[in-house]
Amino acid sequence: MLKTAATLYRYHHRILLAVMAAGLNLSSHANYFLKCLQTLPHQYTSLDTNRLTVAYFCVAGLDVLGRLDALDAPRIIRWVYAQQVLPTAAGAPGGFRGGPFLGGEFCGRPANSSFDSGHIAMTYTALALLAMLGDDLSAVDRTAALALVSSLQDSSGAFSSTAGGESDMRFVFCAAAICTMLGDPGCSSIDVDAATSYILASQNYDGGIGLGPGMESHGGSIYTAVAALTLLGTLPRLPRANELVHWCIHRQLGGYQGRPNKDEDTCYSFWLGASLELLGAGGMSDRVAIGDFASRCEFKHGGIGKCAGNHPDVLHSYYALCGLSLAGWEGLSRLDARLGITRRASISAGWLPMPNADSACAECDEAQSHAMEDLSLRHASDVKVALEQPTAGYAPPSFIESSFRTKVEYERWVASGRALPSQ
Ligand SMILES: [Zn+2]
Repeated sequence: MLKTAATLYRYHHRILLAVMAAGLNLSSHANYFLKCLQTLPHQYTSLDTNRLTVAYFCVAGLDVLGRLDALDAPRIIRWVYAQQVLPTAAGAPGGFRGGPFLGGEFCGRPANSSFDSGHIAMTYTALALLAMLGDDLSAVDRTAALALVSSLQDSSGAFSSTAGGESDMRFVFCAAAICTMLGDPGCSSIDVDAATSYILASQNYDGGIGLGPGMESHGGSIYTAVAALTLLGTLPRLPRANELVHWCIHRQLGGYQGRPNKDEDTCYSFWLGASLELLGAGGMSDRVAIGDFASRCEFKHGGIGKCAGNHPDVLHSYYALCGLSLAGWEGLSRLDARLGITRRASISAGWLPMPNADSACAECDEAQSHAMEDLSLRHASDVKVALEQPTAGYAPPSFIESSFRTKVEYERWVASGRALPSQ
C-alpha cells in the first residue's frame, strides 16, 4: 500500500514538472543564445576581454536545451583554439586568453604583445567549450596549461586570475576544474592541501563560505568552494557541512537569494542548487517555486533576466536553466554540478564515467536500461544518480544518504539531535 502511494506520488510529481516545463518557452531561449553568438547588445562591450565567457554561456545554454545541432561547431572550435597562449622559449606558461583583443588569427594581426598571457578562468571556459562542442582537446598544450595553473597558486593556497592578478575562491575552483579536465584528477599539479586549507579557512561562523578568509558568506563563493573541494577529493574534510546545508536551503524564498536580506536572483538557483546537490541535499529545494520564479523572469522574446522585469543576459539565462535542470524539470539536460556543464559533455570528455548499462530503474518500477537516458533528464529525483556513481576521489559527507525531501524534514532532523532518519 505504501509502495503504491509512493509510486503515485512520484508519477504525480513528474507529471506536474512536465506540465510546468511546457509553460516555459524553451525554444525562444535557444534562439536567444544563437542570436547572442552572432551579435551582442552594446552593454556587453566591457566584456571584450572575456569573450570566451560569453561564448561559454551561449553554447552551454544550447547544450542544456539540447540544441547544439544549431551551431557550426568546427568554426567555434577553431576560434577557441585561436585564443590559446603557447609557451614561449623563455618558459612563460600557456593556457587561454579571453578573446582576440591582443591580436591573433581572428584579428588580422599576430598576438605578440608582451601583455599576452593565459587567464585561469578563460582557460576553464575554453576547455568547457571545447568539450561541449565534441573536441578531444588533442590540440591543447596540456603541460603548458597546467604550468599556468601551478604558477598562479600563492602561499595562502589560493590562485590568481593571471600573474599578479586578483586572487580568491573563484580561481581555486578554476584550478581544480582545469586539473580535472586535463587528466590530472588528483590535481597533482597543485598543492591540494594548501588549496583545501584556504577553502576551509573561508568558512564563517554562520556555516557559509566567503571568497576568502574573513569574507562574507555568499552563494557564488559557496559553489566555487564546494565544487573545488569535490574536484580536489577533499569535501569530507569540510567540518560543518550540515551548517552549510542549513545556510543554503534558507536562501530559498521562492527563487534563491545570494545572501541574507537580498532579493531573489535566478543565477542562485544554480550556485546554491548545485552546492546542495554536491553536498547531497539537492532534494531539499522547493522545485515548483524555482520554476515559478524563473517563469516570471522570462523575457517574451527569449532569454531570462536576473529578476522579474529585468532585461535578459546570457549569464542569468544559462544559470536559470541550470537551476531548473537541477530542480528536475523535463526537457533540459542534466548537469555535472562539479564542472558547470552537462553530464553529456562530461561523460563524452571522460570527466564522468559512462552510466552502468545494466542498471534497472528504481524510480518507476519499469525494467528498463537507462544507460543513455542518463545523459538527459528523466526523473525529478535523478540528482541522486550522481551520488550513486561517485567519481574517483569523490567521497560525500556522511549525511548524504539521508532521505530528506523538504526543508521542514531537515529542520525536524536538526531539532531531534540529528538522529538517523527513518527510511
Ligand atoms: Zn545573479
